[in-house]
Amino acid sequence: MSTGSGVRFISSLRVKFAASYIAIIAALLVVMNTYFPAASRDMIFASKLTFVKSQAAILETALRDIDTLTIDACTLVVSRLDVSGLSHITITGERGNVLYDSAGGSDGFVEKYAADVLRGFDVYYSSFSENAFLARAFVPITKDGAITGTVFVSERDAEQGAILSGLQRTLMNISAVIAIFSVALVAFILRTLLRRITGILRAIQSVREGEYTYRIEMRGRDELAMLGQEFDSLTGRLRETDDVRRRFVADASHELKTPLASIKLLSDSILQNENIDTDTVREFVADIGDEAERLARTTEKLLSLTRLDGGADKARSTVGTPVDMRDVAAATLRMLRPLADSEGITLKSDLDGGCIILGTEDSLHQIVFNLAENALKYNRPGGSVTVRLTRSETHAILRVEDTGIGVPEDDLPHIFDRFYRVDKARSRAFGGSGLGLSIVRDTVTALHGEISANARSGGGMVFEVRFRIYNQENPRQK
Ligand code: ADP
Repeated sequence: MSTGSGVRFISSLRVKFAASYIAIIAALLVVMNTYFPAASRDMIFASKLTFVKSQAAILETALRDIDTLTIDACTLVVSRLDVSGLSHITITGERGNVLYDSAGGSDGFVEKYAADVLRGFDVYYSSFSENAFLARAFVPITKDGAITGTVFVSERDAEQGAILSGLQRTLMNISAVIAIFSVALVAFILRTLLRRITGILRAIQSVREGEYTYRIEMRGRDELAMLGQEFDSLTGRLRETDDVRRRFVADASHELKTPLASIKLLSDSILQNENIDTDTVREFVADIGDEAERLARTTEKLLSLTRLDGGADKARSTVGTPVDMRDVAAATLRMLRPLADSEGITLKSDLDGGCIILGTEDSLHQIVFNLAENALKYNRPGGSVTVRLTRSETHAILRVEDTGIGVPEDDLPHIFDRFYRVDKARSRAFGGSGLGLSIVRDTVTALHGEISANARSGGGMVFEVRFRIYNQENPRQK
């Protein structure tokens, strides 16, 4: 047999919980029903034996002083003493001959032990049967070291026996009530618990099958409710990641499709047009080359992003070696100078020394290059770009400022998103893919830095990147 969720019934939590709980309750009930009656019985036995022993001792003391034990002497002694609590008294002579017997017969007890008692042994006996306590004492009568007879006393108490039996019955009844109540309670707790656990299991199965909108919504404030909340927030995160992934794949496919479509169109035009002249062919082939280059650039950027995504954790723990940002920035700006010149834009730089941070030259180059290239691409003829590197006590701050077209306020929050472009046509004209800034942001984050983008007063943009200065004395400081 198996439960709905595929767990074998015998190994299910329900069976384990129920079995453990019932075993504990059963053990408690067994102890209650055996230990307490047994302890009370032992106490009563002890008091009964003390009683018959003292009664036998009284009789023995009184009979010890009689020179010759006779029937009359025994009857007289018994009648004078207060031994009314006893149910049976037997007195024998030195040979075991019965001289006095209050009730006639002693179930053969006197006959059985007489020889032992006449040899000087005391015999005591107690039992509980037929709802009555029976206590017996059988002792020798000793005078001047010689045994002159024996005294046997017995007490049968049905009253205390009835009380003990009543106690046992009451305990049994209470046990039955506890057992029924416990089983009902266990069943109730397990039902509730299992309903909630099954809810969580069902949710996990749904999410595993891709249904990220599934919510557990478990009431209460216990561990299961917390588990439900954690699960809900986990699925929320999964859904977000899944959305981002889908969007990314869709955008990436779109981005790759456009240059591929152009290549196809251009090559078809060459193939289908028989009378095409060499110059046009050269022009088309050059365009095909441009598109192929764009494809290669986009693919390279996509790979870069994938590397950043996959290696983010690794980058966080080992962010590289100490690098002087001024050297990297100066080299990068040298590379961009021809672009600035061809666009008629003044490229100025003011770079402080001592900006040593933990990173790699490649990643810093990536950051400076993308920001400065954008500042040139989205500029105006005759405009300017200023790259400043300043060092505060704790941070290295890179500011890339331009006098360009700027970003409309509504677009500003999105410019770091993947494939986001404010002006598609302008971006494409410069071979842009909308991936540059997201690569910059991911790289800065991997190096524990911060980045911000703001409109520059008087037009254009200001991008600011902050990194903590590498502290040689305390290299672990991030
Ligand atoms: P792209 O490859 O299109 O340049 P980016 O991720 O580098 O992609 O930039 C995203 C968009 O942000 C660009 O398409 C552009 O519209 C805008 N942008 C980035 N930098 C600037 C800037 N300095 N001035 C104006 N707009 C900018």
